[in-house]
Amino acid sequence: MARDLRLIGFDADDTLWRSEDYYRDAQAQFERIVGGYVDLDDVHDRLYAVEKQNLALFGYGAKGMTLSMVEAAIAITGARISAADLHRIVELGKAVLQHPVELLPGIRAAVEAIARERPVVLITKGDLFHQEAKVRESGLSDLFRRIEIVSEKDATTYARLFEEFGLAPEHFAMIGNSLRSDIVPVLELGGCGVHMPYHVTWAHEAETAPPSATERLRTVDGPAGLAEAVRSLAAG
Ligand SMILES: [Mg+2]
Repeated sequence: MARDLRLIGFDADDTLWRSEDYYRDAQAQFERIVGGYVDLDDVHDRLYAVEKQNLALFGYGAKGMTLSMVEAAIAITGARISAADLHRIVELGKAVLQHPVELLPGIRAAVEAIARERPVVLITKGDLFHQEAKVRESGLSDLFRRIEIVSEKDATTYARLFEEFGLAPEHFAMIGNSLRSDIVPVLELGGCGVHMPYHVTWAHEAETAPPSATERLRTVDGPAGLAEAVRSLAAG
């Protein structure tokens, strides 16, 4: 049975442009700095534990990660880390906030192709200031009917957005790299999803139940497959 898809949502980080690579790079440098004080092989896990504990206070994004790196560095080194090294850690966070926006190859054409057939919206989470800057710099903002920057992408948030859009979930499909944030909650509400995995995924985004309702889900390996995946969902 054909589906009446009326609105398509796009995730931003690691769907439109590279993001997780920069976080990985900052964390690798963090591990090298802290590694000058302690010989531990679980620095990465200890940093993630601190980040996860702070999520409810700091929210998502590079600023929260920076504060968590400072906190973790002090804890892991038993408060021996120097002010100079703490400064280097703060600079790592600033570098993540300042990197130029690098679109995924082929994504502009994919968004344009989908936008020719149905209205598209952008739904992203993270630091408001940082996300606004990336949207502006991406050169893609004109393609989107609306740009929603939210603090969490769960079923509650999507349900609120559907209400604001005046749209029933079955008329909506979300495109993104994260099963946890882009796919599972939308399927749960009765919408459709197109999963486009990125080559690296943050541990937090990987923690999720497997998607249900897989007849409303398509998986593609890159932007070139997106428009066809949306058409396939619409065809039922
Ligand atoms: Mg993403």
